[in-house]
Amino acid sequence: MPLDGKVAIVTGAAGGIGYAIAERFLREKAKVVIADVDTEKGAAAEKDLARLGEVQYMKADVGRRLDVHNLVAAAIDAYGDIDILVNNAGIVHGADFLDLGEEDFDRVLNVNLKGTFLAGQAVARHMVEKVSNGGTPGSIVNMSSINAVFAIANQIPYSVSKGGVNQLTKAMALSLAPYGIRVNAIGPGSIMTDMLSSVNSDPAARNRILSRTPLGRIGEPAEIAAIAVFLASDEASYITGQTVYADGGRLP
Ligand code: NAD
Repeated sequence: MPLDGKVAIVTGAAGGIGYAIAERFLREKAKVVIADVDTEKGAAAEKDLARLGEVQYMKADVGRRLDVHNLVAAAIDAYGDIDILVNNAGIVHGADFLDLGEEDFDRVLNVNLKGTFLAGQAVARHMVEKVSNGGTPGSIVNMSSINAVFAIANQIPYSVSKGGVNQLTKAMALSLAPYGIRVNAIGPGSIMTDMLSSVNSDPAARNRILSRTPLGRIGEPAEIAAIAVFLASDEASYITGQTVYADGGRLP
């Protein structure tokens, strides 16, 4: 098992891709902290996943520094260590550029980009201290998107935030490489989760996505979880600063 005994925090893991990553990590024998703002879904996820191993839900808004600080402290308190962080929490806001409000721009950037920075920095500080004391380096996986490179007119803060996540991933990788800590990102195309619910209920939107997806289907959260396992594990020991796109061959 590549993640046997490792301790992982997965943010935004009460549902969707984060839940699938938490589930897969548990199957690989990791201990998992599910961090999410949604207490109801978080508690339900913890209950559901407990059959697979050691898992705890902890409430945290990744855009709030104090929440992130408390999350990291609580995870170390519960499991004694953090080996893996998956910065998965993310939100969208659809609006045309001319109508986009400042608050909505800030809200998306705060969760998707600043949240990745805050959690990444807090966990990295723990990992660096561990390495300095002779411990093994950890691995950080950030959730980007194919929209980091293909802009969409009505998802401006989202595309901008994910472009930022790619650059943050490279900068974190450079900064943490001297400690052996690897930082990579995953860039999914369209994956079947609540985030895509508007697409599911709109056949025209679904067809638009399929028409520019050569594999001809929408992806499954488990297909992203498989990449997270690989990047988090020692199997990816010489990979850092990269974004791996899983998008069905998506065309612009
Ligand atoms: P989702 O909406 O199904 O799940 C997101 C989870 O994040 C939810 O449980 C939500 O409660 C949680 N969350 C939201 N704000 C939070 C915050 N401030 N702090 C902590 N948790 C918070 O979405 P998903 O499709 O599973 O997306 C997961 C990640 O994958 C996101 O970063 C998203 O941008 C990215 N992504 C998704 C797709 C897709 O097609 N679904 C494509 C590319 C990238």
